[in-house]
Amino acid sequence: MTIERLKTDILILGSGGAGLFAALHAHKANPDLDITVAAKGLLGKCGCTRMVQGGYNVALNPGDSIERHFMDTIEGGKWLPHQELAWTLVSTAVERVLELENEIGCFFDRNPDGTLHGKAFAGQSFDRTVHKGDLTGIEIINRLMEQVWARPIRRLEEHRAVALIPAKDGALAGVLMIDMRSGAFRFVSAQAVLLATGGGPTMYRYHTPSGDKSMDGLAMALRLKLPLRDMEMVQFHPTGLLAGPDTRMTGTVLEEGLRGAGGHLLNGAMHRFMADYDPKLERATRDVVSRAIYAEMRAGRTTPHGGVYIKMAHLGPANVAKEFKGMVDRCRDCGFDLAGGLVEVVPTAHYFMGGVVCDVDAATECFGLFVAGEDASGMHGANRLGGNGVANSTVFGGIAGDVMARWIGKNPGHRAPNPDVLDAELDRAQHPFSRRPGNLNALREKLLDCMWDDVGVVRHRAGMERAIATIDAIEAELLETGIADRDRRFNLTWHDWLNLRSLCEISRIIALAALRRENSCGAHYRSDFLEPGDLATSRFTVARQKDGWIEIAEEPVLFTHVKPGETLLRDPIAAE
Ligand SMILES: Cc1cc2nc3c(=O)[nH]c(=O)nc-3n(C[C@H](O)[C@H](O)[C@H](O)COP(=O)(O)OP(=O)(O)OC[C@H]3O[C@@H](n4cnc5c(N)ncnc54)[C@H](O)[C@@H]3O)c2cc1C
Repeated sequence: MTIERLKTDILILGSGGAGLFAALHAHKANPDLDITVAAKGLLGKCGCTRMVQGGYNVALNPGDSIERHFMDTIEGGKWLPHQELAWTLVSTAVERVLELENEIGCFFDRNPDGTLHGKAFAGQSFDRTVHKGDLTGIEIINRLMEQVWARPIRRLEEHRAVALIPAKDGALAGVLMIDMRSGAFRFVSAQAVLLATGGGPTMYRYHTPSGDKSMDGLAMALRLKLPLRDMEMVQFHPTGLLAGPDTRMTGTVLEEGLRGAGGHLLNGAMHRFMADYDPKLERATRDVVSRAIYAEMRAGRTTPHGGVYIKMAHLGPANVAKEFKGMVDRCRDCGFDLAGGLVEVVPTAHYFMGGVVCDVDAATECFGLFVAGEDASGMHGANRLGGNGVANSTVFGGIAGDVMARWIGKNPGHRAPNPDVLDAELDRAQHPFSRRPGNLNALREKLLDCMWDDVGVVRHRAGMERAIATIDAIEAELLETGIADRDRRFNLTWHDWLNLRSLCEISRIIALAALRRENSCGAHYRSDFLEPGDLATSRFTVARQKDGWIEIAEEPVLFTHVKPGETLLRDPIAAE
């Protein structure tokens, strides 16, 4: 088997907000470095940063403060976040959003006085979500893409990373990739690698992330025996569009700003049910609203397709059409009138709070490997605030770019890949070509149902044990399932197979970590352990692959800035 080889100084996996910011910052820090961005899709057209609707959380306006944003993040995360990471997120977001406007060229919506407009997002004590209408991600990613194009940064588009390859001493040597267009393998040797493949819980029946995301980054990190934190924490967005079973539009998100602006949720009996669950009504946090909808669904009080309705008409159809043009257009494309009528919605798997354990400088346990964006963990704890996702990827992507450029200065040199690992990973990636063709889609459907039913919005021991057995069976069957088309050029069935393998591996970790956490905390809700547990002794889970088994350990949260029961807000009235 011939493998094409490429040498670069910095290899960035993923071209979302994290990957593109890392590339720009690394280039700025040292323009002499050879920088390569590799992505499963086309630069600027793939991943979830482009799909960001609502906006970007940042404390800019009078009355708001970094401390207030921090307290919202910690309280929203149920005191589980890594406080240094959360502090870095909220404090660096200020310079990052100014950089987006003044250096990258983004235009965000403004108040009449010229200041940046902050919209209301659920779970926040201040309207701080900076946005461009309701399609903020397109503005951010298009401008980032143009800036990257304008610089001598190499692009490996439609290149799939399949394995992180260490040297014999365990430091990272590079990444094994498939050039999806030619089907050829390519080993990219790099002094520093950034993992920014964007997580993405696409193993649930209803999900929002882009189709190119299949947890590959975390699966690769798991095989490198890196620790993964908070893996039970899957965020469900309450309002996924429910457009019927035969369209990919089902599951796609209708943005949070709809509820923030005053949208109502009605069950199938036209009852506005949120008052039965939380005094904050529709503006409660995502986990609370998702569970309330799920409870209505389980009680059978549903709409024709089995969800609930969102209603905006009482805010004035013309106003809704103006404020939420993107959402109104999307719904109209699917035959629904969001501005004046009712739209069916369902909770949908949206964001993965779990990920690779990292430091504030984006370094991981593996020498030479860095992580940023949704592949990283710790910033959000048990629940991500809407608007903190794109802030997270741009903040830490930029940090990773700065740090990697400096790091190479201190740790120069490429390392030789361990040939045994490289050979094993090549075999692994080609495995389906050695089996008889089977029904891949049936296996995928089984996984979607298993995760939705048993490791979803509400969990309990028996369901999760059932899920682990089902995932094992699906993976075993997958390993016996081959693909009919042997032509490797743009062989999407091959990539579906690889996607499903990554999804199975990470689904199992989600279920194991969820089984281990015997309480209900943020996005993780167990009907057999309803209590949240003592906040002051909060612990987070850490999953790690050992030889042939998975260890799920627990570690105490360090309250380095603020302890449960305390606040950083000086003004007691503002703290309420
Ligand atoms: C519909 C939707 C709306 C959202 N709205 C908001 C919002 O309003 N505010 C907010 O803060 N957050 C929002 N988010 C979350 C936000 O999009 C993410 O938190 C953030 O953009 C993730 O950035 P990232 O750079 O980590 O990953 P992404 O932007 O997802 O990029 C991942 C990249 O990795 C690539 N990749 C994946 N696997 C591989 C592989 N094996 N090899 C090579 N490349 C690979 C992908 O092709 C892609 O280029 C939303 C998410 C969705 C899905």
